Amino acid sequence: MEFDVIVIGGSYAGLAAATPLARARRRVLVVDGGMRRNRYAEHSHGFLTRDGTPAAEIAAIGRAQLLRYPTVSWYEKSVTHAQKIEGGFAITVDGLPTQTARRLVLATGVVDRLPDVAGLAERWGQHVFHCPYCHGYELNQGRIGLLASSAQAMHLAQLLPDWGPTTLLLNDTFEPDELQLDALRKRGVTLARGLVDHIENAMDVVMKDGRTLTFEGLFAMTSPYSAGSLATLLGCAFEEGPMGRTIRTDALKATTVPGVYACGDAARPGGSVPLAVGDGSLAGAAVHQSLIFAPHLDR
Ligand code: FAD
Ligand code: MG
Repeated sequence: MEFDVIVIGGSYAGLAAATPLARARRRVLVVDGGMRRNRYAEHSHGFLTRDGTPAAEIAAIGRAQLLRYPTVSWYEKSVTHAQKIEGGFAITVDGLPTQTARRLVLATGVVDRLPDVAGLAERWGQHVFHCPYCHGYELNQGRIGLLASSAQAMHLAQLLPDWGPTTLLLNDTFEPDELQLDALRKRGVTLARGLVDHIENAMDVVMKDGRTLTFEGLFAMTSPYSAGSLATLLGCAFEEGPMGRTIRTDALKATTVPGVYACGDAARPGGSVPLAVGDGSLAGAAVHQSLIFAPHLDR
């Protein structure tokens, strides 16, 4: 085997997973396609000592610090195939020979499927958000819209008033029942019925009936799903939940396939930069210990 561990995904989770392995002088290959989930947002919030720092800068510092360790290799590429081989795994990277390792870490993140409303995708990460803990404070208690995709919107609808006066745009996706109406009233949420046509200017939501609702920011539900084709190829089990599809892991971030670990957004619903970093460092240490205490995958 060329490497002890191959980490697929070199963003927050992958960087954090590779770090303890590098510090144990293990041979680590990180392969990263460069598509961080938060690449649409300029600043990242809520990560201790890095609150408000450009998201790209956090990743760049992490990468530079990791690459100081001499046993770390890095490819800026996509992994297109992964498979089990005797004693480990083989991966295929665009335009390179097959790479092999005793363990794999999937830190491949998720893909956000945005609601299909004209003008929404262009504003993703700038005026349209999914997480109020990440971007709510900066709306400075201005008016907030929440675009429903299903009754699941009830959850965020009740949270959002802490960040500003909130309007729930039903967009014909569900009709709240009496209990739900009561819950919305208790949190002071305004209801807007009717279909959304498009978004213009910074955040003017234009309804099909011609009304325009202006907000400081719009929240939307994105049904993130694990960018999981590699996990599928390897035979990993998934979890389906209200917050999307993730790779199933145990408390040490091991997947259901021996020798394959997963961390970050790929392996937890509702992820964030600090959670990805925490999961990644846990996975890295767990992988390292598995090399010592459970070295033989095939027995
Ligand atoms: P990602 O950062 O998504 O990285 C996954 C990496 O894996 C990518 O680089 C990708 O190219 C790579 N990859 C995937 N498949 C392959 C493959 N086959 N081969 C090679 N590489 C591959 N969180 C916060 O804590 N604070 C915020 O302020 C915040 N703001 C956000 C704003 C927006 C608009 C969005 C969408 C999210 C935001 N988040 C924020 C959430 C945060 O982006 C994620 O929780 C975090 O990026 C998860 O890190 P990760 O390493 O698990 O995955
Ligand atoms: Mg990562």
